[in-house]
Amino acid sequence: MDFTLSDKMQAIIGMMREFVDKELIPLEPEFLDRDFGEMVPFLEEKRAIVRQMELWAPNHPKEYGGMGLDLMEHALVSEVLGRTPIGHYVFGCQAPDAGNIEILHRYGTEAQKGQWLAPLVAGRIRSCFSMTEVDLPGSNPVMMDTTAVCEGDQYVINGQKWYSTAADGAALAIVMAVTNPEAPPHLRASMIIVPTDTPGFNLVRNISIMGHAGSGYFSHGEILYQSCRVPVANLLGPEGWGFVIAQERLGPGRIHHCMRWLGICSRAFDLMCKRAQERVITPDGKTLATRQIIQAWIAESAAEIQAARLMTLHAAWKIETLGAKEAREEISLIKFYVADVLQRVVDRALQVHGGLGMTDDTILAFFYRHERAARIYDGADEVHKVAVARRILKEYAGRTVR
Ligand SMILES: Cc1cc2nc3c(=O)[nH]c(=O)nc-3n(C[C@H](O)[C@H](O)[C@H](O)COP(=O)(O)OP(=O)(O)OC[C@H]3O[C@@H](n4cnc5c(N)ncnc54)[C@H](O)[C@@H]3O)c2cc1C
Repeated sequence: MDFTLSDKMQAIIGMMREFVDKELIPLEPEFLDRDFGEMVPFLEEKRAIVRQMELWAPNHPKEYGGMGLDLMEHALVSEVLGRTPIGHYVFGCQAPDAGNIEILHRYGTEAQKGQWLAPLVAGRIRSCFSMTEVDLPGSNPVMMDTTAVCEGDQYVINGQKWYSTAADGAALAIVMAVTNPEAPPHLRASMIIVPTDTPGFNLVRNISIMGHAGSGYFSHGEILYQSCRVPVANLLGPEGWGFVIAQERLGPGRIHHCMRWLGICSRAFDLMCKRAQERVITPDGKTLATRQIIQAWIAESAAEIQAARLMTLHAAWKIETLGAKEAREEISLIKFYVADVLQRVVDRALQVHGGLGMTDDTILAFFYRHERAARIYDGADEVHKVAVARRILKEYAGRTVR
């Protein structure tokens, strides 16, 4: 692997970093204090500047108005934008829209692309992804109760989902529902596009997460689908391909998440080092930075961030050169390892800030609250660890080791 940044990427990363530092980080106090809806006009202003700078939708296809960066390039972008919770949103590459755009681009019919893909990439509408159910394990989604029964030229959808991130205010949901109950488990479900103004699409609530229900883009919806009828033309990809498409959505998505987490790590690390340098803890002027335990946290964090970053870039490189299937193990490794590094680095940074770390006067408490979920979504730690260990142990079956 070559770690040299091309001139193009150096320029892009440089401009984005400057924009994040000068335009977005100063907005964070208001972001932490206000409802997301109140922030939208300010964020739209920033989005307009990003479009003028031709940095909009870095990972989305050029023919739809994105920059068309490849996975490795977007990984580097995701790291820079991850330094602030509003980075991806302002640059038009936020989850879950990013994943939905990828699958619409790959599997959408021309009509679906015209109706949904173009306005999504342009940032005129938002979407959500509705797979996880309240009463069944998201870790094993072949256990799914939501059904889509074909009646004439319509699917009738019934079921209860939750954690449909950003459902509040979304124009469409991509819903996973069982269409072929008699098929083998992994071929039972399909993805179906459901406009959120369809009768029977009911956003029950924004779930309160760590004390905040949030709103708009920053929320997680519980949705009841009650005899929700959509045309069969809203099927995304072939019937029964729900899990195949979901897997494809998750591979690159995990790279984006891991690099975003590394952006958070680098921000938390900067805050930790600065605080350690400045916080005087003795009358004769010694700072926190003079204490070995703090120095150890800084050195350990630096090593862990570097290891996580190299692992993630390697996984991205493997996906690009050999495909997501061949890179399954690397993807699982980074999913739990980087999430763990993220928790540790944010926790240490918060600890170094003492009481200040618990307040919303820095961004650390927000990261601490919201990023705990990194060890749960897109496959809980344990699921990835079990998968990796199984594959490794298989190689030892019947093998002589001296
Ligand atoms: C912030 C956030 C955003 C999300 N966004 C979305 C979204 O946009 N769309 C969507 O559809 N879903 C979303 N989810 C849901 C997420 O995908 C699920 O929470 C996840 O798949 C885990 O499923 P579960 O919550 O049902 O936990 P369960 O499957 O019940 O698992 C609970 C715990 O059991 C353990 N466990 C599970 N299986 C195994 C195993 N095989 N071996 C060992 N231990 C195991 C793990 O520790 C796991 O954390 C989101 C979740 C969060 C927290």
